[in-house]
Amino acid sequence: MPQSAEKTKDHVSLFKEPEYTEMFAEKKANFECRPSDEAVLAQSEYTKTWEYREKNFARQKAVINPAKACQPLGAVFAAQGFEETMPYVHGSQGCVAYFRSHLARHFKEAVPCVSDSMTEDAAVFGGLNNLVDGLQNCQTLYKPKMIAVSTTCMAEVIGDDLSAFINTAKEKEAVPADFAVPFAHTPSFVGSHTTGYDNMIKGVLNYFWDREKGEVKPGASNGKINIIPGFDGYAVANNRELKRYLDDMGVDYTFISDVSDIYDTPSDGTYRMYDGGTKLDDVRDAINAKATIGLQQYCSDKSLEYVASKGQSTASFHYPMGVGATDALLMKISEISGKAITPAIEKERGRLVDAMADSQAYLHGKKVAIFGDPDFVYSMAAFLLEMGCEPAHCLSTNAGKDWTAKMEALFATSPFGVGCKAYAGKDLWHMRSLLFTEPTDLLIGSSYGKYLEKDTGIPLIRLTFPVFDRHHHHRFPTMGYQGALRVLVEILDRIFEVTDAASDISYDLVR
Ligand code: SF4
Repeated sequence: MPQSAEKTKDHVSLFKEPEYTEMFAEKKANFECRPSDEAVLAQSEYTKTWEYREKNFARQKAVINPAKACQPLGAVFAAQGFEETMPYVHGSQGCVAYFRSHLARHFKEAVPCVSDSMTEDAAVFGGLNNLVDGLQNCQTLYKPKMIAVSTTCMAEVIGDDLSAFINTAKEKEAVPADFAVPFAHTPSFVGSHTTGYDNMIKGVLNYFWDREKGEVKPGASNGKINIIPGFDGYAVANNRELKRYLDDMGVDYTFISDVSDIYDTPSDGTYRMYDGGTKLDDVRDAINAKATIGLQQYCSDKSLEYVASKGQSTASFHYPMGVGATDALLMKISEISGKAITPAIEKERGRLVDAMADSQAYLHGKKVAIFGDPDFVYSMAAFLLEMGCEPAHCLSTNAGKDWTAKMEALFATSPFGVGCKAYAGKDLWHMRSLLFTEPTDLLIGSSYGKYLEKDTGIPLIRLTFPVFDRHHHHRFPTMGYQGALRVLVEILDRIFEVTDAASDISYDLVR
């Protein structure tokens, strides 16, 4: 055998050993019943043509590799950003294994979350008993201050009523009557993780502002600004970066869900099931803030609407990354708080602009394809336009028609936007057709783009969730001027790698 206790091989080299290569060849020959290599190649070449692209874009019923996750995953992420809160999913255990592994693979952290393991009997008779027992077990075993409940498809298909079930659980004394159990219905057959995030944030606010002790009316202003960060794979660093700006400006704030500590716990011998997060008392008091800002509009539509219904002013942005987007956010914060943007922040802005100008010759006219959540794609496209790049194909599976209109308006603001197109509701198989028929210089997205990179040869830059196959990217910001500088460097590094790899006589020391 190629493996032994003395010689443990990684799977990359292990599967190249003769034992395995012969086994794979035999399996292929005897069991796969596949067409000839020539036929596979011919079909593969056909899928790279314009004719196939038209057929692919006419596709109505099937989705292939959507660039999105399902609602409860976003709800779990949002719930983890509150003080000593256990995310609780009413539904199937397998779904929760997926949410936990998806988040753990990105953040490289344990992801506490429980499920009430609905199976066939609950699917027939309803999941009330699961919820009653589950809440009791969860509170007894894990001792959280709050349990935030979301649902999987199964609970939604049979129509379980979370509000009624949680009331029943409290009547049965599964948890104390005054124990915080906010909830959000998160049916995955509509929306995506961004919708689930929004639903859970609204559910938590609704619990503390309307349900805990009856409707709470806003009192005297606490002088703070509430920030709803939105679903962000880089939240660990981005939340800290934004707090740095706010502290520097002397602005008082409350993050409505802050996952920066729970997804970045230290290795010091102590396991932290809970770490950091927004204090529950701060959520209660958030109704008295001056205003609430959503950093990602498509992650906070319903939450901001709810906040506005309490008479509070709101504003939303599209993932503040790059010069103009960071300017707009900071100016809004300054306007609401009455605090000036400090000279130190202005200097950071100037340094970013200087860096962009230094590298202009390598950025100008580069064609880029982007995929991801609607706010990220918008912001990335805006930053590319600022750098003189062309965001040729902008694709967001979980975007709608209003996003397309916004993207078109964005393209119209720059000469580099001419010919650029936005594709809402399309998937990564559509992106493949785009890249083969109208190739770009770069592709920006998540780790799922690596298959497109291998297929098309277009270099991938990983800049959005999930990043499974590279480590620690989430520990460095992408938002703000410093974040934009990091994004700029990643783009430039990739451009220089490609330039060097393709150079012979021009294999220069200086770029
Ligand atoms: S789509 Fe539905 S069934 Fe699939 S993981 Fe999400 S909640 Fe579970």
